[in-house]
Amino acid sequence: MLALRLKLRSSVISARRLPITVYNNSKTCNSFKPQILNNGNILLPRCVHYSTVTEQKETIKGQSEKREFQAETRMLLDIVARSLYSDKEVFIRELISNASDALEKFRYLSVSAGPESPKLEQTDRPLEIKLTTDKQNRTITIQDSGIGMTKEELTENLGTIARSGSKSFIEEIKKKGADEASSIIGQFGVGFYSAFMVADKLEVLTRSSKAGSPGYKWTSDGSGTYEIQEVDDVPIGTKIVVHLKTDCREFADDDVVKNIIKKYSNFISSPIMLNGEQVNSIKPIWLMDIKEVTLEQHTEFYKFISNSYDKPRFTLHYKADAPLSIRSILYVPEGKPGLFEMSRDSDVGVALYSRKILIKSKAENILPKWLRFVKGVVDSEDIPLNLSRELLQNSALITKLRTVLTNRFLKFMVEMSQKDPVGYDTFYKDYSIFLKEGIVTSQSPTEKEEIAKLLRFESSKLGSGVRTSLSEYSKRQKDDQKCIYYLAAPSRELAQTSPYFESLKKRDLEVLFCYEMYDELVLLELKEFGGKTLVSVENDMQKDSSDSNDAVIGSDGLQQAQVDELIAYLKSNLVGKVFEVRTTQKLDTHPCVITVQEMAAARHFIRTQAQNLSEENRFALLRPHLEINTKHPIIKKLHKLLSTDKELANMVTQQLFSNAMVTAGLVVDPRNLITHINDLLVKALEKH
Ligand code: ADP
Ligand code: MG
Repeated sequence: MLALRLKLRSSVISARRLPITVYNNSKTCNSFKPQILNNGNILLPRCVHYSTVTEQKETIKGQSEKREFQAETRMLLDIVARSLYSDKEVFIRELISNASDALEKFRYLSVSAGPESPKLEQTDRPLEIKLTTDKQNRTITIQDSGIGMTKEELTENLGTIARSGSKSFIEEIKKKGADEASSIIGQFGVGFYSAFMVADKLEVLTRSSKAGSPGYKWTSDGSGTYEIQEVDDVPIGTKIVVHLKTDCREFADDDVVKNIIKKYSNFISSPIMLNGEQVNSIKPIWLMDIKEVTLEQHTEFYKFISNSYDKPRFTLHYKADAPLSIRSILYVPEGKPGLFEMSRDSDVGVALYSRKILIKSKAENILPKWLRFVKGVVDSEDIPLNLSRELLQNSALITKLRTVLTNRFLKFMVEMSQKDPVGYDTFYKDYSIFLKEGIVTSQSPTEKEEIAKLLRFESSKLGSGVRTSLSEYSKRQKDDQKCIYYLAAPSRELAQTSPYFESLKKRDLEVLFCYEMYDELVLLELKEFGGKTLVSVENDMQKDSSDSNDAVIGSDGLQQAQVDELIAYLKSNLVGKVFEVRTTQKLDTHPCVITVQEMAAARHFIRTQAQNLSEENRFALLRPHLEINTKHPIIKKLHKLLSTDKELANMVTQQLFSNAMVTAGLVVDPRNLITHINDLLVKALEKH
């Protein structure tokens, strides 16, 4: 359960809000009131000479109260401190996240104050997170000037594990209809205790920003009890002094801590000061000049927003002012998609902002579902800040944004495929399944066609392993060719020897080979490309045969009367299995083939649903047609057998039919055919 929470938590961390504030570094901090600037930035005051409260000495005032952690808390505390986190360093991330939450809560309360809201003190103080390390005393201190805690809040939030004050805060403000909750990280009420992984003692000094609140000190060694006492001269906010265990002294080292902050907390919206120096880079890089953003900045930003450790393989930094204001960065990850991403239930990877303020961290609908592997941010001033979930689903504005972004992204990918064919090829191997999903799920024929530009297939005219695009195929065609031919087969070998391919090979037509299971459904769905119809070779075979029934009699084939006799025999012998028997001229080396109305759909049906149907019903649904090559030795011999060996004729007929069904990919389990083959072998070997 706890592990699950933790998992959820890491997804919450990825939703960490990006900076929204610009700081006014004036020496005087007379007023806290944030101002909205013309460009949409929020200006918050920050005093350069802010006297660091970290050094301030608080004076003990009240009596110390000793309390015990609740029983469950004690148990959980043990788990958290011992085994919940694999990396000790994350305690810094957790305490910074809490500090950031405290600042966000204070910001929220100070801007949304109504007549009934509690009065707040010192609203002009700088809002920041300060860390200090002290090697000598083996301490690391994390201090924020945020909302602070009252005595009740202290006991509630820190005395009870798995009780998140932040979660209640979110629920509170949600009740009021606000949506700022997305900037708050905490939810599960365990992060704070991670400090006991490294500490033998924690001191928390806190004073609530509610006017008139006294300060308190909370102390615990994490074993079972904690103490609370009133303390004077505590600045508003919270200061946590972590007394490090001897084997954790590295966390009192400035450089070590700096790297940890950069790794986890780089884009926290408030400044993070470490021993007087700002560590986090809080630039919303999507607003920067496209040329000014370095590769490192992109990588760092990508890692942060995608919560992963790879880097982007393709980066599209895109800005537009018409038809919509868009500032966006879209990344294609270098890593392969995980199983989770493959699932259509997986979250989208793009966050939606308006004027640097997060609207939604995993914003469905700003890109189509099939682009869920793309990570990034989209900032549009045209989107109202109060955009609700419903609006996000139905708004015309969002639809427009999605169309513009999708088109731009597809154009970018086409560019990439030309500029970096090798990189594109690897991308294609890893991600083509999403493109295909896009073609099948998209409602717009133009979008389907745009995605189709990114498809790649092997071709009968090119070497093994060489993939070509539909556009390149079209360019190679003679002007009078109106179709793009393709053949679905599990491998190049099977495609090349397929009876369906044979006729096109004779006509010297290029055929695209599709090896993936769903390719044929994708092309069926696509229907056409660049004005040319996409034609499955298997369907083409059926189409042409139907009007060529009497044009097949050649000098080396059977005579018409013999053909009629054979067809009549086959029809009666394969009754219930074959619904039409015809001759075809398209085959050379194969005796016969099966055609059905729509081969791709039929195969899909066989793969997915046929198991539950009886053989009889299966044939009734598929209605296979048998097309025979009257020049083929087996067919000629079969005709002879009709008068010489009825039993063998029957066996050969059944086997020819089975073979053709296997070749067509329409047999549920080919193992069933083995008995018949063996019977046939027995018969063939009888006389030897
Ligand atoms: P979470 O952050 O998931 O809620 P934590 O265990 O990290 O859980 O923290 C528990 C609660 O303690 C928080 O929800 C918050 O109410 C309170 N808290 C922790 N750190 C601070 C802080 N620096 N300032 C104010 N409140 C805090
Ligand atoms: Mg927390």
